Amino acid sequence: RVIMGIESSCDETGVGLVRLHDDGTVELLADEVASSVDQHARFGGVVPEVASRAHLEAMVPTAERAFATAGLKLSDVDAIAVTAGPGLAGALLVGVSAAKAYATALDVPLYGVNHLAGHIAVDTLQHGPLPKPVLALLVSGGHTQLLRVDDIASGITELGSTVDDAAGEAYDKVARVLELPYPGGPPIDKAAKQGNPKAIAFPRGMTGPRDAKFDFSFSGLKTAVARWVENTERTGDPVPVNDVAASFQEAVADVLTAKAIRAAREQNIGTLVISGGVAANSRLSELAAERCAEAGIELRVPRPRLCTDNGAMIAALGAHVVAAGRSVAPLDFSANPGLPVNVVSL
Ligand code: ATP
Ligand code: MG
Ligand code: FE
Repeated sequence: RVIMGIESSCDETGVGLVRLHDDGTVELLADEVASSVDQHARFGGVVPEVASRAHLEAMVPTAERAFATAGLKLSDVDAIAVTAGPGLAGALLVGVSAAKAYATALDVPLYGVNHLAGHIAVDTLQHGPLPKPVLALLVSGGHTQLLRVDDIASGITELGSTVDDAAGEAYDKVARVLELPYPGGPPIDKAAKQGNPKAIAFPRGMTGPRDAKFDFSFSGLKTAVARWVENTERTGDPVPVNDVAASFQEAVADVLTAKAIRAAREQNIGTLVISGGVAANSRLSELAAERCAEAGIELRVPRPRLCTDNGAMIAALGAHVVAAGRSVAPLDFSANPGLPVNVVSL
């Protein structure tokens, strides 16, 4: 069966096509993304109205490209999955409306699915079916969570999350302080490669004995970086951008991997999946690989292209939801900007 996935929760318009095989494996057929990131760059963050308008313009061309690359016709689609939330209300609405139109015109079932669960499900396109359970570290622009995934089609439990900024948000804000372009993850990753991660001892938030075990905090780190840069500027010395980037990146990777390993151990889970845009970070996956090897935990990180927002992740999740025989969404469902992570599909 062919499943079409539509994503529009933030600034990427994504249309993915996958094939669900009888043995439950899911094969990637097409993954087309149009991003409005350049239109947001001068604002240093996503402007919701601009994103909605861009989705509207990009949706049909992106879908056409997906069908062209897969060599499929609209009539080959057996089911459609669309991101129902969480995300920006206006942006989500464009995808949900498009999905309803395609589903009605093609007379195929429609599933409203969870964007965050999609970030995890996408790993099955690269590494095959997920063991049960897995621990997921979801690190993106808007979220930072540790999740216990007993079954990707239905059973996700939140173990902890950030109490303030998301990891990606911290990257974007620190990039601004360092006068690096938006989004900040890729340029910081690159600068850090030339820097010394031990140059500056930035704080590791929420790692004290009295802090909640699986929660995160990145706003103190962001402030510490900003203060350090200000103080250096005041002395008139040049800011060692590469060292600051490397030291900041080390602090983030250290906290994320330490907590993930601790959660896996305590929950007795043998597999860690890291996903979301920040999973594209080279130091995070490197440190996670080291620490997982030491702890005897299997590590799965999808390739960077699958980690950031795309339609294939929604199609993949849709395929798992279809395979599990989950119910179809009522055609009058709405997007839910605050959809909780334990609701995998509507
Ligand atoms: P959410 O999924 O929470 O709704 P989102 O969809 O905006 O948020 P993603 O597209 O998954 O998030 O990820 C975007 C974030 O990933 C940005 O904050 C960006 O800076 C960060 N990012 C991308 N590449 C890297 C990298 N190599 N290192 C660190 N961060 C990165
Ligand atoms: Mg984005
Ligand atoms: Fe995302």
